[in-house]
Amino acid sequence: MDYRAAIQKYTKKWVPKLFLSDWIIKLEYDLHNKKKHKGNHEYDAITVVPFNSPEYMTAIIVFNVKKYRKHKHIHAQVEHTVLHELLHLSLAHVTFRVSGSDAHVLAEETLVQRMVQTLLNLEEGNA
Ligand SMILES: [Zn+2]
Repeated sequence: MDYRAAIQKYTKKWVPKLFLSDWIIKLEYDLHNKKKHKGNHEYDAITVVPFNSPEYMTAIIVFNVKKYRKHKHIHAQVEHTVLHELLHLSLAHVTFRVSGSDAHVLAEETLVQRMVQTLLNLEEGNA
């Protein structure tokens, strides 16, 4: 699969649906190249909002394409990951105010996962 094309396709699909069209979103594809994220090879993607403020609407999403190739991810998994990361952007201007504590991170991840599932269920008519 052309993972870059799939990531771009699902980003294009979900950005307007999530009202994120005002954001400047830079997509990157090689998490292994990110020195800062050396310990994060197991992640599917990482979203970085370099300057967390309510006015700042630029983000970099780094996808772990090497992992997708290795585990032969299918389209549904790529879409799930794209949607997950974009939902973090939806929450960014709220979450930048909270501490980076494990409890807050876990709460955000749980919420994002539930929202992903809800949106995908709604889309499939399974809600
Ligand atoms: Zn997440």
